[in-house]
Amino acid sequence: MSTPLALNPALETIPNYQPGRPIEEVARELGLPAAEIIKLASNENPLGPSPRALAAMRRALSHANLYPDGNAFYLKQKLAGKLGVTPAHLILGNGSNEIIEFIGHALLSSEAEVVVSQYCFAVYPIVTALFNAKLVTVPARNYGHDLEAMLAAITPRTRVVFVANPNNPTGTHVDRDALLQFVNAVPKTVLVALDEAYIEFLDNPLDLMSEIATGLRPNALLMRTFSKVYGLAGLRLGYGIGDPDLIAALEKIRQPFNINALSQAGAIGALDDPAHVERTRRNNARGLRLFARTFRCLKLEFVPSAANFILVRVGDGARVFAAMQKLGVITRPMGGYALPDWIRISIGTPKENQRCLETLKQVLGARGAQV
Ligand SMILES: *Cc1c(COP(=O)(O)O)cnc(C)c1O
Repeated sequence: MSTPLALNPALETIPNYQPGRPIEEVARELGLPAAEIIKLASNENPLGPSPRALAAMRRALSHANLYPDGNAFYLKQKLAGKLGVTPAHLILGNGSNEIIEFIGHALLSSEAEVVVSQYCFAVYPIVTALFNAKLVTVPARNYGHDLEAMLAAITPRTRVVFVANPNNPTGTHVDRDALLQFVNAVPKTVLVALDEAYIEFLDNPLDLMSEIATGLRPNALLMRTFSKVYGLAGLRLGYGIGDPDLIAALEKIRQPFNINALSQAGAIGALDDPAHVERTRRNNARGLRLFARTFRCLKLEFVPSAANFILVRVGDGARVFAAMQKLGVITRPMGGYALPDWIRISIGTPKENQRCLETLKQVLGARGAQV
């Protein structure tokens, strides 16, 4: 960087987050009509937002001249009721990514250590570096979290341990009992940040809600989002669930109007449509089975997934990503996660899944799988 400004030295070490390529951007680049491109790159809901969310947002539009309710009273009431906690147990973020940043502000400094798993979500290392804290990366076991090793990596300097369940980008999940044991064993001075962005895709997940509600988990923060199963990634809305004392601390960091009025309305509408969530889960389970079956036929290694995407070993991931993109199918290359042989594919509609698999076969057929 050649700026004369004395920048935060941490910025030199921070990688730029590489998002999934937007359809419009790829359309411009390739000169293809946007309607011919499908995006299976960012784990979005292929069924779209709930019609109830859309209707609620339309109603909210005419009040766009007014600031939103900074405390999101109605949304918090609704969420709290659904989860069995009180609004004081909830904090809302501009995507759950913002909650991760709140954690940095609240707990991290150059004295702090953060424990993560190899192949963890890219935002944890970025936020850790931003606050000059030390990242302690624990080798994965079968691409998933090794909770025993993560526990052993905790030192007196550890302030936060991140566990994504299911994990992105691997799709792995941790065993219920093992997770409970882990949460019990982590010292109370260390925040257990459980990233549950994909929790709605699990059949029988560990439920810490009643323990949080009764004050038994002062060092746990669950993070969830409307971006995935609820199909509202474009709105940017996530939430944290934790002890009121922890939430009150995080609330001091939050900008007063971080959740806009359309997001609040859309989320309330989405919570009123459990059938849309159920359709999404069913479509996803079916898609996951199709991908797994096809990968087996093609003799492609993949990581069994509990989420709405699947990691598959294709040889030269960057090449396969680029070749598929040229044919109008956007996936996610995994070089940034030190998985250069792999791509990650989000589950789409049945039609999108078929097209993605046909395109993958075409691209691999041209040069062989190389795995
Ligand atoms: C998608 C995702 C998030 C957050 O997404 P937001 O859109 O910021 O709510 C958080 N954690 C993981 C592991 C994710 O994959």
